[in-house]
Parts: sequence; structure tokens; C-alpha cells
Amino acid sequence: MAQRIQHYIGGRFVDSARQFANLNPVDGTVVGQVCEASAAEVDQAVQAAKAALQGDWGRCSPAQRADWLEKLAAGIEQRFEAFVQAEVLDTGRTVRQARTLDVPRAIANFRFFANLVRQAHTECFETIAADGSRALNYTVRKPLGVVVAISPWNLPILLFSWKVAPALALGNAVVSKPSEETPSSAFLLAQVAHDIGFPAGAFNVLQGFGGDSAGQAMISHPDIDAVTFTGASATGAHIMKTVADGVKDVSFELGGKNAAIVFEDADFDAAVDGVVQSTFTNSGQVCLCSERVLVQRSIYERFVAALKARTEALVLGRPDDPATDIGPMISKKHQAKVVSYFELARQEGATVVTGGDVPVFGDDRDQGFWVRPTIWTGLPDDARCLREEVFGPVCHVAPFDTEAQAIARANDSDYGLATAIWTRDLSRAHRVSPQMRSGLVWVNTWYLRDLRTPFGGVRRSGIGREGGRHSLDFYSEVTNICIKIQDAPSTGDH
Ligand code: NAD
Repeated sequence: MAQRIQHYIGGRFVDSARQFANLNPVDGTVVGQVCEASAAEVDQAVQAAKAALQGDWGRCSPAQRADWLEKLAAGIEQRFEAFVQAEVLDTGRTVRQARTLDVPRAIANFRFFANLVRQAHTECFETIAADGSRALNYTVRKPLGVVVAISPWNLPILLFSWKVAPALALGNAVVSKPSEETPSSAFLLAQVAHDIGFPAGAFNVLQGFGGDSAGQAMISHPDIDAVTFTGASATGAHIMKTVADGVKDVSFELGGKNAAIVFEDADFDAAVDGVVQSTFTNSGQVCLCSERVLVQRSIYERFVAALKARTEALVLGRPDDPATDIGPMISKKHQAKVVSYFELARQEGATVVTGGDVPVFGDDRDQGFWVRPTIWTGLPDDARCLREEVFGPVCHVAPFDTEAQAIARANDSDYGLATAIWTRDLSRAHRVSPQMRSGLVWVNTWYLRDLRTPFGGVRRSGIGREGGRHSLDFYSEVTNICIKIQDAPSTGDH
């Protein structure tokens, strides 16, 4: 029987009258029934969160909260394979990726923020005024309150825990929602929280859709204090408008249309490998993926040929096959969106170097949501296919002549999330990197993450930074306290 995926509200698992089907993208089969939260259930979760802040959870010290996060991490570890299967069934990604990236990163997120909050310190200044009086200024960090955390489907538990862990570490109560496409791993995390006796109401999980559904009810609830969101730029803009009247805090990690720049002095093979990785990881469904590849003209033809060969060797396969490189798109709707860009690219004059269609397997996968890895060339810089995020296994490769041209064309985007630069010239790496209009720049690598570093984008790619102390800053309010410790010396005092 298909699994029923519930909400977790105030420490209890809750069913909804309305439910929807959870599909396996590999073959389109139904793998679960998911409860769809109503506005009333969203309100219950917000009230439970408020009560938790007034109760045991609100009284926890940072060290006690860190201990709870460690227990969550240990609980995920104990159910490691269940999390792997949940991620694989919801997304069709490879078992290998779930085991080596998604689930380990969820564990690391909880451990990292536990350590961070244990070591967090505040500021203190001794102030000597012009008249000689003295005061002590110091800051205290307090939770924001009820934090709404909404995450997308592309890296489900990795991104869900990236929001939930710091929010809890800083003492907030969380009302969260995973994507309707990937409900299972958040449900499992609720089970872990329940099993370890996590303070009731501090961590709530609602299932359901976004607009006109649970997500909308969450962001428009008057009693929430902040929204941390990862997803599409248009959704971020909508959330911003919705919370504007209440002047709620927001942290947005949004879409990208990222450039990779390959200079002629790059290690050629490493650059080809790097672009294959940055274009096709997770079937191109990573906000950081390169969709615009700029290659210096002297190596352009050779590069396109090498990239074509590597792309055509990628194996589209089932999640448990160790040979698999590429899985399906998350949904029929998303497959249709990517295919619509395949058609648009042809209308806009692209040369399809490889791919550009839906594969035919001759088995049950033909009911799944697959597309073929694709390379385009020949589009003008203002083509819609070069300006809009496709979010699939596809890139466009274009030649450039000078460093200045490469910088200008890479920066010519409404988005600004990540840039990958391939060069062996150290001076060039330092010269070009700070000129990129993106929140992240990688040189001779891609996707290498240190959780202490700031993560986020500029322009339509987001607002704010998370990671390390940047997460401390977003998930807490700082109050400055100024205490007079000595009057101004009176005349004649020694
Ligand atoms: P999406 O915006 O459609 O949905 C994301 C989440 O928001 C889902 O949980 C959805 O239910 C919810 N949602 C949708 N409409 C809502 C509304 N009106 N009110 C409240 N919640 C709402 O995005 P998606 O298709 O799930 O994810 C893909 C997008 O996410 C891509 O654009 C990708 O670039 C972006 N993304 C960005 C990052 C980053 O770190 N910058 C990381 C991963 C994905």
C-alpha cells in the first residue's frame, strides 16, 4: 500500500481531509499519498510554534539547543538508508548521490549549526564619552520568533535542513514545508524529532502546495516573524509582496542562470570535466548549475567536441544502477517546461549539438519524466534560452575573444548566483573573480562548499546570505544594551 505522508504539528502527526498523490519520476507510478494542509492546519502549526517559544523550547540554553540538534543528526544517521530511499523515490536521483551528498549534508547541517551556536559570541565595547563618563555596551542575541521555512524539490533534505537547522539552533520555532514534489524526507525528519522527544511545537512540518494552498497560508499568517525561502525567483517576489505590510524578515535563495568561463590557459581536460559536472549534476536541477558556458575562441571548437563526446557518454538510468549518471526531471510539468525550451531554442536559431528531445527506453521509464542531456550553440546573447532559467540538463556554449568580453557577457544576466572560472593564470583568477556579479565564484572547481562561508545570490538570485555567521545574523535579533558604569569625573577629582 502507498505510504501516507502526514503533517507534524505541535508534536503530533496529523492527517488532512485532502490528499494528493506522490509520484516516482522514474516511471510515473504512485508511491504515496500526501496530506494537503488547510489554512486551519497552518494556523494550528503557528499557534504550536508560539506556545513552544513560551514553553520548554523557549527556555533552552544555546548549549541545550545544540544538544537537540546533535540528537537530530544522530537520528538521521540511524535511519540513513530510509532517508536515502525517501530521496530516491521522490526524485529519481541516484542512490549514489543520495548516499554521498544529500543525506550526509543533512546530518552535517545539524552538526554544523550545533557547533556554531555553541561557539557563538556577542559583542562588548567599553565606551568612554567625551565628558569622561564610562559605559559598557553589549549585545544579546534572541530568536526571531516563528520562522517559516519553505524549500524546493531539487535537493530536498539538504535544503530543508539548511533552513531548519540554523533556525532551531538560534532558538526559533519553525513552521516548515517541503516541496509538494518531495514530501518524504521532511516527514522522516519529523519522525526522528518525535522519536527523540524534541520539544513539541518547536519543529512543525506541513505538507502541501505553494500558491493558493499551504504555502500561501503560511506566508500570509499574521503571527509569523520571518520567512526563509529557497525556490524560484517569481515565488520569492510574491512572498516579498505578501510579507511587506508586516515588514517581516526574509532570506531568499532563488534561481540562477549561471555562467562558466573557460579561458584558453585552463587545464583543458579538467575544464571539460568541470563543465560536465556543473551542467549535468542532479540532471541539471541545481540552482548552481552552469547553463551559459563561455569558451575562449582558440579552444572553442575542440571544447565543444569534447563536451559533446562526454555528454553523449552520460548514462540515463535507474537510481540503483551504479552506472547511472542522469535521472529524470522531477515531474511531468517540469519535463514539459524543459521540452518547451528545447522547442524555443530551435525557434531562436540554436544549433542542437546533442540531445534536445525525450529519450525512448521501450520500458516503464517511458511513463516517467525524462529528457536527454542537451548542448546548444549559436544563440544570440539576448535569446530567451540564454536569459531564462531552464533548470534541466542543458547548456549553451558560446565563444569569446577577450577577458573583458567574457566578464561583460557573463554578467549580462538578470540573475547572479554562481560563476565558475577555469584558468591556470593565478593573476587572472584574482582579477576576474571579484568582477563577477554573483554571490559565489568558483575557480577551477564547482560546488565545493564550506558551511562557514556565505551562500546566496545577487539580483533575481536572492536576498541575504546564509552560512556560518551569516546564518547567525539572519536567524536572530540582536539587542544592544548600554549600561553606565561610571559618571563623568567632577572637577577636582583625581
Ligand atoms: P518554487 O518556487 O515553485 O517552489 C519552492 C517552494 O515554494 C515549494 O515548497 C512550493 O510549494 C512553495 N511555494 C510556491 N508558491 C508559493 C507561494 N505562493 N507561497 C508560499 N510558498 C510557495 O520552486 P521549485 O520549482 O520548487 O524549485 C526550483 C527553483 O528553486 C529554481 O528556480 C532553483 O534555481 C531554485 N533554487 C534555488 C536555490 C538557491 O540556493 N539559490 C537552491 C535550490 C533551488
